[in-house]
Amino acid sequence: MSQDTSPTDESTRHSTETPPETALDTARHQLNQAASYLDVDPNIVERLNHPAAVHEVTVPLEQDDGTVEMFRGYRAQHDSVRGPFKGGLRFHPHVGREECIGLSMWMTWKCAVVDIPFGGAKGGVVVNPKELSDDEIERLTRRFTNELRNVIGPMTDIPAPDMGTDAQTMAWIMDAYSVQEAETIPGVVTGKPPVIGGSKGREEAPGRSVAIIARKLLDYYDYPIKETTVAVQGFGSVGANAAQLLDDWGATVVAVSDVNGAAYDPDGLDTRAIPSHNEEPEAVTTYADETIGNEEILELDVDLLIPAAIGNVITEDNAGDVQADMIVEGANGPITFVADSILAERDIPIVPDILANAGGVTVSYFEWLQDINRRSWSRDRVNEELEEEMLSAWNAVRREVEERDITWRDGAYVVALSRIADAHESRGLWP
Ligand code: GLU
Repeated sequence: MSQDTSPTDESTRHSTETPPETALDTARHQLNQAASYLDVDPNIVERLNHPAAVHEVTVPLEQDDGTVEMFRGYRAQHDSVRGPFKGGLRFHPHVGREECIGLSMWMTWKCAVVDIPFGGAKGGVVVNPKELSDDEIERLTRRFTNELRNVIGPMTDIPAPDMGTDAQTMAWIMDAYSVQEAETIPGVVTGKPPVIGGSKGREEAPGRSVAIIARKLLDYYDYPIKETTVAVQGFGSVGANAAQLLDDWGATVVAVSDVNGAAYDPDGLDTRAIPSHNEEPEAVTTYADETIGNEEILELDVDLLIPAAIGNVITEDNAGDVQADMIVEGANGPITFVADSILAERDIPIVPDILANAGGVTVSYFEWLQDINRRSWSRDRVNEELEEEMLSAWNAVRREVEERDITWRDGAYVVALSRIADAHESRGLWP
């Protein structure tokens, strides 16, 4: 593993050392494809192919048995032309430098698609949190925060929850940062518990935006929601909230899954009776009469498929077996670049992650506004403003799709890239 924190050496590393499709490869392919539709200065595109900075830290943790173990942590900061770096922190064994860079690029586009004044970042610790006690996770979080203290802040880089982290993790980050700065600074992270400056509706927001966008997509292709079948891979915060809202709105959710497999009922599941990962981890299959495998759920003959678990689940190996009429991405990067072109050739509309799950970072922005202004919003206000932002992003993307006759993914990238390129153009390169 490289100790180098310079952001300039990825292209050599990626051509010699990495497997064909990392998140960074996919992110770069997508950027360059979007650029081909626009008259963007190639120098700006080249800048956007590279992160502004990648911070790599060692996090020593005193374990409960007294021994000290070292963990590796990252924070990739991609672009801040439109505002402070923004994005989640993951605690996951597969966290890596290039993955963080790729995910930080997606955050830059995501914030631009929904037109909020943030740039993109992503980070995390290489750790399996299931192997640590709660006390160990707290100590690891606090020490990681301290290692990043000089590069995060409410006006510079604002972390949020992602895979393996939650509102409690954000509370520890806020506390550790505030103690060091000797003042309470809630705006340093978003996704906190509402009692310390978190926003109502933040936890449900990514799943809610997936459901809002899914409803618009169904409408666009004349699928009445009450006659629509849906399969959702993943029943964490994103998958569970999306499945439950679509179920509330009349869709027939035939399958939902977690790491153990999927609950399946062709007549429709009662999604509110199945505990989400937060309520009872990995219990989906114990609440089902009939179960199917986690790969099988991706190949069900449904109207709408929502992959909302992890990245890279639809690859060139199984893209040909997908039978859904359309796909809305709940997870970040569930479809590889090659799989995406296979699905595009098969005319399967796919709404990308950077639009569909952008409700998370949108309500993060509302949370940050509430923190800066020291005034909290009602849940109704949050949900109304979220709906407004999502519809305006949907309309901007739809216009590009119709005018240029391109895919939904390309439409979203074109919207994002033109906003970011315009900002770079007007700020210029200094010196
Ligand atoms: N981790 C979430 C994402 O991938 C949210 C990021 C944020 O709110 O900053 O969109």
